[in-house]
Amino acid sequence: MQTVPDGVGDGGGGLFGGPPALGPLVEAVAAELGAYAAAGARMFATSSFQTNSVVLLDLLDRFAPQVPVYFLNTGYHFPETLQFRRALGERFSLKIIDLFSPVERGQQRDAEGRLLFTSDPDHCCHLNKVLPLDPILAAHDLWVSGIRGSQSSVRQGMGKESVGRGGVRRYHPLHAWDGRTTWAYIEERGLPRHPLEDEGYLSVGCRPCTRRLADEAGPAGLDDRGGRWFGLHKTECGLHLDGAPAGGTT
Ligand code: SF4
Repeated sequence: MQTVPDGVGDGGGGLFGGPPALGPLVEAVAAELGAYAAAGARMFATSSFQTNSVVLLDLLDRFAPQVPVYFLNTGYHFPETLQFRRALGERFSLKIIDLFSPVERGQQRDAEGRLLFTSDPDHCCHLNKVLPLDPILAAHDLWVSGIRGSQSSVRQGMGKESVGRGGVRRYHPLHAWDGRTTWAYIEERGLPRHPLEDEGYLSVGCRPCTRRLADEAGPAGLDDRGGRWFGLHKTECGLHLDGAPAGGTT
């Protein structure tokens, strides 16, 4: 059995309490998903296929398997992430769909010819993560995302529901779940973990923009996304910023 990493991913609190009571939390998510479905909402979800992602995927598989799940395949992911995505696709009965940038990789260069992630990661994220989702946003009413408030101040400010890009309604069923709760759910359900987690990657994004926390300042004081865009004034790819409060962006 794997233990919860001390001080990581729980927003700095809750480590000394008893085990989280998962039952009411899960029942609430099931009821909320059911209510949206009963209201006829055209729902979709996104997943980055990290260890944390398996919680939302498992909940959707149990309570709303009709909801399609989109994966923003930037072409920059670790092979282990693609392997994990395939394994989860086989485990769950969900419809998982890859999305690709409408701009070819060869066109994603700056004036000096360098790939954009080296000089303008915001633009790179826009081309590879924001633009591909626009048609999906236009075709749905409700975006289900597994962001948690304890992951960052930006995400904390988004709340359980918000309005996102293009006016789409956003629903964050795990917003109040902290790291301890997430890990307890993964343990209880026997869910798999991202292959890179044991190597010190607590949050895995694109390969050029992800560092192992163990390689950097260490987990003290960092949330579990501290290894993303390390050293840059950037904490989000842009996908989730339209749901953030004014002034809460990087
Ligand atoms: S995370 Fe890095 S490589 Fe991935 S889309 Fe953003 S800037 Fe590009």
